[in-house]
Amino acid sequence: NSAAPVVTRFAPSPTGFLHLGGARTALFNWLFAKANGGKFLLRIEDTDRVRSTQPAIDAIIDGMRWLGLDWDGDVVMQFAGAERHAQVAHEMVANGHAYRCYMTNDEIAAMRAEAQAAKKPLRIRSPWRDRPESEAPNLPHVVRLRAPQEGAVTIEDRVQGAVTVKNEEIDDLVLLRSDGTPTYMLAVVVDDHDMGVTHVIRGDDHLNNAFRQLPIYRAMNWPEPIYAHIPLIHGPDGAKLSKRHGAVGIEAYRDEMGILPEAFDNYLLRLGWGHGDDEIISREQAVEWFDLSGVGKSPSRFDLKKLENL
Ligand code: GLU
Repeated sequence: NSAAPVVTRFAPSPTGFLHLGGARTALFNWLFAKANGGKFLLRIEDTDRVRSTQPAIDAIIDGMRWLGLDWDGDVVMQFAGAERHAQVAHEMVANGHAYRCYMTNDEIAAMRAEAQAAKKPLRIRSPWRDRPESEAPNLPHVVRLRAPQEGAVTIEDRVQGAVTVKNEEIDDLVLLRSDGTPTYMLAVVVDDHDMGVTHVIRGDDHLNNAFRQLPIYRAMNWPEPIYAHIPLIHGPDGAKLSKRHGAVGIEAYRDEMGILPEAFDNYLLRLGWGHGDDEIISREQAVEWFDLSGVGKSPSRFDLKKLENL
């Protein structure tokens, strides 16, 4: 809906350093918001209590400041919203779009073995989908999405184009764990909705998740966001970018290589977004020119040499 004011967000999980791909996602979200007179928000997805760390949170915020990617309002800490997330899961149970599942670990293991034997991916459809609550044992349970089983969903992705997935491929994913804590899949949707996010721009490793997140929007009767899934960055050898390609936390480019933020921003911008042959694009020009239609469909290549020569 082009009439709604644009709201984008960067939603990193603070489980490691802010890497190149994350910084680029943040930049594209920032630019898209600015180019459309909208808002850019920052949400730290710290729901994984074991792997989230304060140094990682600090590195993200520090890196965003260094890159000049200022966000609107306060940083949203996802874990602080756990009660709200749980409340939505309970609402979904009440309106029939989710159910309490009392399957035991043994039952799940049996389902997994069956899927393996049939050489099919595990897609959980719990017997508790249809069993009345009155038969429920007094045992810990999870809350699962009652995923639609028939038909298909097509996403008109702004980068990938139309992508269709059959509903039979979407499992009854867990919304609330047995200890009552929300899963990432639920938290992301509730937060994006509550924060008024209109455009979800992120790495295409999340494209599959979009098909698991949409049923939650539909169950709650919430407006669906526009999706844009950006191809990942590859190393010079064509494999997913990793440390062995010389990719490190972005603070190393600043501290060890002495790269200036303008140059680094420019490098990030050119990594997956094309605009003519201009070598150097100023921030003002980028804001003026940035559009999702300029984001390429194939993975971009990281080139340490090019970065070193900035
Ligand atoms: N927290 C997720 C990640 O860091 C991103 C979630 C999203 O952008 O929807 O991979």
